[in-house]
Amino acid sequence: MTRPLLLGCIADDFTGATDLANNLVRAGMQVVQTIGVPEQAAPDADAVVVALKSRTIAPEEAVRQSLHALRWLQAQGCRQFYFKVCSTFDSTPQGNIGPVADALMDALGADFCCVTPAFPENARTVFQGHLFVGDVLLSESGMRNHPLTPMTDANLVRVMQAQSRGRVGLIPHAVVRTGEEGILRRIAQLRGEGVRFAIVDAIGNEDLMALGQALADAPLVVAGSGVAIGLPQNHGLRPSAAAAALPPAIGLRAIVSGSCSTATQQQVKDFIDAGGAAFAIDPLQLVGDGDAVIRAALSWAEPRLAQGPVLVYSTATPDAVRAVQQRVGVQDAGALVEHALAAIGKALVQRGVRQLVVAGGETSGAVVQALGVEQMRIGPQIDPGVPWCFAAATACGADVHLALKSGNFGTPDFFRKSFGRLA
Ligand code: ADP
Repeated sequence: MTRPLLLGCIADDFTGATDLANNLVRAGMQVVQTIGVPEQAAPDADAVVVALKSRTIAPEEAVRQSLHALRWLQAQGCRQFYFKVCSTFDSTPQGNIGPVADALMDALGADFCCVTPAFPENARTVFQGHLFVGDVLLSESGMRNHPLTPMTDANLVRVMQAQSRGRVGLIPHAVVRTGEEGILRRIAQLRGEGVRFAIVDAIGNEDLMALGQALADAPLVVAGSGVAIGLPQNHGLRPSAAAAALPPAIGLRAIVSGSCSTATQQQVKDFIDAGGAAFAIDPLQLVGDGDAVIRAALSWAEPRLAQGPVLVYSTATPDAVRAVQQRVGVQDAGALVEHALAAIGKALVQRGVRQLVVAGGETSGAVVQALGVEQMRIGPQIDPGVPWCFAAATACGADVHLALKSGNFGTPDFFRKSFGRLA
């Protein structure tokens, strides 16, 4: 008999889903992440994280997809739900955090919900309702220039109020630090005043642990990945290696990198400097004959795979990326490179690679799609936010261990050390 699902999560993007799953695993839950809403029944796990791509789509569509995920999770027996949003609260006055939270609450018959993107371990803290990114206010961080969701107000009570129905209140740190009882009293008071959402302050892990206890009976929480560390304790679960256990790793090893973020540039350089075998993809050659480039990468990789991990990368400096974008267009350059790297990732698996590291959020999405991955069991963390995952029976017919690294995550030696974490 499979165990009951303790927590049903809906994440508004793919790498955010993995980040949440990683935190739940670290706190003792066995977790499966699904890509979109599955058609079949839930796998055996303590929690399921349904990864959507709903952060910046039209609010009505985000609501529709989120409710679809909710109904599937309810059908699996879930009684508590977690809407995972970005730790920088990426949204606009139109949504999508508010409209989705409102719709989930309506569907659950809930009249109150705690909201916090706080994740102190990742330098996201909330104090007096204001979100800090490192030591600056959200509105003074790089997020103020985000192309899709510029965050120009750090006051989350105001930000949430602008995009949701009902009143938004605050559970300040002075209350949070008194612990579970104090938080519960404040929640009762706010509910009595007709408040629908409360932004919750948290500046350290102890705050998230206390909040987690106070949320034991809450039907819904809207949060970044931080609150996840405080929920497994409500089910008697404690951090354990067993929660992160994956089937043994076998097969050949490879790395595919389409991220041009600073951290990834260092990781590529570190791998090459250490003598690793690496093949650079030139995006301009992809314009002419993409298939020829893919074939060249594969014939380079094939004889080298047996000797250890090979790296195929398009990672380049900002200047080089700009030059390509000016020639090809931003969208087309991105799509060309993603398509090529996804095809290479899939072909490497067809050639026996069973341990695959992918660098880049969009690149990871493209590779996972090419492999036909529908769900992944979450395993041990390599670096914060990046766990090893295990996808059984991908569309290539193979079981594959995957590490999907979003741009700026990971230490410089990430590519060299990651395979060791599976051993
Ligand atoms: P990150 O997580 O670092 O943002 P992503 O994979 O999400 O990485 O995004 C990187 C984008 O840049 C992808 O669309 C990818 O195809 C594109 N790209 C990768 N290499 C190059 C390059 N050399 N020139 C232009 N675009 C590139």
